[in-house]
Amino acid sequence: MNNEENTQAAPHVEYLISTDLDGTLLDHHTYSWAEASPAINLLKEHAIPIVINTSKTREEVIALQQEIELCDPFIVENGSAIFIHANDDRFERRGMVQQGNLLCETLGIARAVITDKLKSLRAETGFKFTSFSEFSVQDIIDHTGLSEAGAQLAQNRAYSEPLIWQDSDENFDTFKQAILSAGFKILHGGRFIHILGKTNKGLAAQSLMQRMKYEGQTQMIALGDSGNDLDMLNIASTPVLIKSPAHDFPNCIRADAIKTTAYGPKGWNDTIIDLIF
Ligand SMILES: [Mg+2]
Repeated sequence: MNNEENTQAAPHVEYLISTDLDGTLLDHHTYSWAEASPAINLLKEHAIPIVINTSKTREEVIALQQEIELCDPFIVENGSAIFIHANDDRFERRGMVQQGNLLCETLGIARAVITDKLKSLRAETGFKFTSFSEFSVQDIIDHTGLSEAGAQLAQNRAYSEPLIWQDSDENFDTFKQAILSAGFKILHGGRFIHILGKTNKGLAAQSLMQRMKYEGQTQMIALGDSGNDLDMLNIASTPVLIKSPAHDFPNCIRADAIKTTAYGPKGWNDTIIDLIF
């Protein structure tokens, strides 16, 4: 950062960091962000927003923000909603909906709308699937082997519905077409299929950038390790692919993408310090 140009009274935002969590800011195995602490502290000192942009829920991100002592905007459930802390003057908050101390812009679709569509689709077609809203936490544990905490989190989602497909592959193709033409999208997780609105981490990051009061002078540095980060990396000024101990780098169309040599938060830390400080 060029401090000589930093003469305005308001925080002069020159960069916005948009970051994935698991395998990126958080260590793949331990979920620790400790190795990124030096860069996090420098970013905080310079009032550069560290925007967590994740598939996780609002509650999960709030818990992590409290742990890291972050008050920056964040994006949840794969681009479904943007949250800005109500007193954050670096961002234009017009048109956002107040939720306690946070302001929210929704890009995805409320879970109840998704579950209504799933119910009517099943009534019409007779397809066999079980959607999480029909399960108690104990049912989820019994059916999936998730821990109680994992099952609770699955039930806490606000903008997506996980389901277990129990019908043929052929019927799944028909189901998929019906979901897409209803204006939703499908993400394949390890064990579940997630139905959500037609949004992604990149669309949400772009929408947040448009709210930055210094948009014209701001560069977005986006960091991620997986396929669902590519939409965000593709629209960034500087895309950063974080090395994973679990899988190869995803195929990024950006030839200028930086590939870290260190894994997870260590790679995150070294790259941010190289790029900005
Ligand atoms: Mg990740």
